[in-house]
Amino acid sequence: MKNYALAIHGGAGTILKNTMTPEKELLYKNGLQHAIEAGETVLKSGGSAFDAVEKAIIELENNSLFNAGKGAVFTNNGTHELDASIMNGSNLMAGAVAGVHNIKNPIALARGVMEQSEHVLLTGNGAMDFAKKINTPLENDDYFFVQLRYDQLQQALQNNTMVLDHTVDKTKNNEKKFGTVGCVALDMNGNLAAGTSTGGMTNKKFGRVGDSAIIGAGTYANNKTCAISCTGHGELFMRSVVAYDISCLMEYKNLTLKEACQVVVMDKLVKIGGEGGLIALDSNGNIELPFNSDGMYRASKKQNQQIFIGIYK
Ligand code: ASP
Repeated sequence: MKNYALAIHGGAGTILKNTMTPEKELLYKNGLQHAIEAGETVLKSGGSAFDAVEKAIIELENNSLFNAGKGAVFTNNGTHELDASIMNGSNLMAGAVAGVHNIKNPIALARGVMEQSEHVLLTGNGAMDFAKKINTPLENDDYFFVQLRYDQLQQALQNNTMVLDHTVDKTKNNEKKFGTVGCVALDMNGNLAAGTSTGGMTNKKFGRVGDSAIIGAGTYANNKTCAISCTGHGELFMRSVVAYDISCLMEYKNLTLKEACQVVVMDKLVKIGGEGGLIALDSNGNIELPFNSDGMYRASKKQNQQIFIGIYK
């Protein structure tokens, strides 16, 4: 029997203490705490890492503070297009969706793709047809309307930029971050799992899909090495195949989890301007939460240890 462990993130980016109020900080911390507790409840009772990952992410998707599910950012068209993926490290099974809308919990739909289709990644209208076929809970547009997100879109449209949800204009004292969400878990049977869910980037166009939907880029899990969930500028994370690269450095070069995270997040990504971070967990229960941005909403918990919650560097 192994000691269980898990970690979650709520996005990385320009998260500065001087732009945060104590009230908001408390809301984020509570959001992270509830999500990690939801995942831990599964692991504590002997449940699987895979179930724990889904549970923790659903909790984050239902919280409008985070850019996933209910709190997803707006596209250029004023709609929401959601991406999510989940992977089981014990058998390398995976499921993912991209560009779906009105789905209450995209991570559950990603799981549905893995378990109830013969495919790994479904997109757009086809994914919506599949969601209806397996009776995935839907919500109307009002559910996804969050004033802050709408204001972010108006600003992005004015500046004609596509913005990472958590990128804040450092010259202005405005609050506009909170990214993608993710979870990695190790259960008592020694199985690893990882999942990621996002609304992507504010003002995204043309059916843009980020790393969160891509197995190997934003999400990866393999019992032989590690479980990874990423957050940051998706284009750069895809080009760097971040999650799988960490696993490969461990598998083929025998690097430790810590060393592999250091190489990928603090060196390779930085060199190509890939701002962001990730949560990582290996099969021995070691946890790494590296990021090269100003901050990352993050929390972790190991069996018989205190919960850790962090926001800033
Ligand atoms: N990685 C996500 C994307 O590019 C965004 C984020 O992490 O906030 O879609």
